[in-house]
Amino acid sequence: MYCTNCGHQLEQDDRFCRSCGGSQFPQPRTPGSDPVEQLHHVLPVGAPLMALLAGYLGLFSVLILPAPFAIIAGIVGLRQIKTGPHKYGTLRCWTGIVMGGIFTALVPVLLIIS
Ligand SMILES: [Zn+2]
Repeated sequence: MYCTNCGHQLEQDDRFCRSCGGSQFPQPRTPGSDPVEQLHHVLPVGAPLMALLAGYLGLFSVLILPAPFAIIAGIVGLRQIKTGPHKYGTLRCWTGIVMGGIFTALVPVLLIIS
């Protein structure tokens, strides 16, 4: 193995680099210790903008007008999550797609009724 800090070659069980003294313990990532991981349920952290947009448009789809935009934002958001560095926001995208879909489907019904 090699030093994670300077790239110096190390023995298998070296705890510190002989060259630069850097610690060779990879930071253990316990689930839930990442502040971003904890926050993302509450705050729009780590989600692409489109996912947020989809989530909010999905909620506002009850007003019918934002419904088609919620679907579009949801699809674009999902693609961004797939291809980009974003980890979260899938649920928000689906909120937009599902809510937008339901209320877009209601438009012709409302037109017929009125
Ligand atoms: Zn080193």
